[in-house]
Amino acid sequence: MSLLATLPAVVGADLTVPVGDGVLPYANLDYAASAPCLAAVQEAVTRALPTYSSVHRGAGYASQVTTRAYEEARGTVREFLGGPQAVVFVRNTTDAFNLLARAVPNGTGVVVFDSEHHATQLPWRHAVRLTPPATPAAAVAAAREALEACPVGPRLLVVTAASNVTGELWPVRELADLAHACGARIAVDAAQYVAHRPLDATGLDYVAFSGHKLYAPFGTGVLAGRADWLRAAAPYLRGGGATRSVALDGRVEWTADAEQRHEAGTPNVLGAVALAAACRELSADWDAVVAAETRLLERLRSGLAQVPGLRELSLWGPDHPRLGILAFTVEGHSARDVAQHLADRHGIGVRDGKFCAHPLLAHLLGGSGGCDEDGTAVRASLGLGTVDEHVDRLVAGLRELVG
Ligand code: PLP
Repeated sequence: MSLLATLPAVVGADLTVPVGDGVLPYANLDYAASAPCLAAVQEAVTRALPTYSSVHRGAGYASQVTTRAYEEARGTVREFLGGPQAVVFVRNTTDAFNLLARAVPNGTGVVVFDSEHHATQLPWRHAVRLTPPATPAAAVAAAREALEACPVGPRLLVVTAASNVTGELWPVRELADLAHACGARIAVDAAQYVAHRPLDATGLDYVAFSGHKLYAPFGTGVLAGRADWLRAAAPYLRGGGATRSVALDGRVEWTADAEQRHEAGTPNVLGAVALAAACRELSADWDAVVAAETRLLERLRSGLAQVPGLRELSLWGPDHPRLGILAFTVEGHSARDVAQHLADRHGIGVRDGKFCAHPLLAHLLGGSGGCDEDGTAVRASLGLGTVDEHVDRLVAGLRELVG
């Protein structure tokens, strides 16, 4: 059964791929890496193209229309997130956290779990690193201890809303309450979460995500949140658009606008238009999106449970709530061989490797994460174009591999 009729359509749902001497419909189970473009996103970009022009300060009609489209896109994203003070358009989640890392006040105590994606883990110059917690309650306890141990001054807890490896949901609300009780702020990596669940960012100080994982693959991401640190920080990019004035003697006065201050240069208007279209389309019926994914995930997990030697990876056990993202190993087969077999013989796209989360993989697989170790896994991830047949083909392909 497919629920596609009630869900937003994706471009490329009818893609076929070469397999041996023939072709097969592509079973894309790699949404967590990059999701295909939504049809509504493609339409929005196509509609914007005839008036495409450079934004801000242009008196011409096309520039006016494009400026309006860009700022309306910002408004849509703001609404999508429940109304944060600032919505800065960046390239992706990695860019968002690098911007935030430069914007935190000097001496900020940053606390981050080792289970994070590298984009969330690496931008901080100094951070207290916490080992992957054994339970959600342990995550809260470890964060409390670390935040309380930070020297007096600004503090920031950085955490994912959902793991890009196991799909498990993190106790973000509890961690936000805790951070605030400790006088700290919280920054949430919503790169995976926002494509699967509505995110009300009220009460979260910062949220980051990428358009290409949200069915808007046009090179835009978002850092949204409180304006004060962003206003006070040195501009992330120095150049036109971020300035109020530049004097003949070289003195620069930067704009105090939290958004424009960090968006110097010609912005990616089409990326912003695309992202806003995706936000609108997903928000139209979240219940349908969640219901379809929940059903497919159950089908996938019960199918995988029938594959001998397959081990599903998780931090917090099989019953912990998760998104439609699932990593596994297959005894006796390298992750690369499994992924290649699925691609070459069954026309299935999955991901293999360490998913830019080396410490987490080392933790889950019992290694150190060093470069000379294999320590890899296979990840299957679901999205709006996924149908039962894709899931069943994956399970059948794995069963064939293990014999
Ligand atoms: N955070 C998570 C949870 C991710 O899954 C990813 C990408 O896989 C990122 C951050 C980085 O996203 P990007 O590569 O778009 O910067």
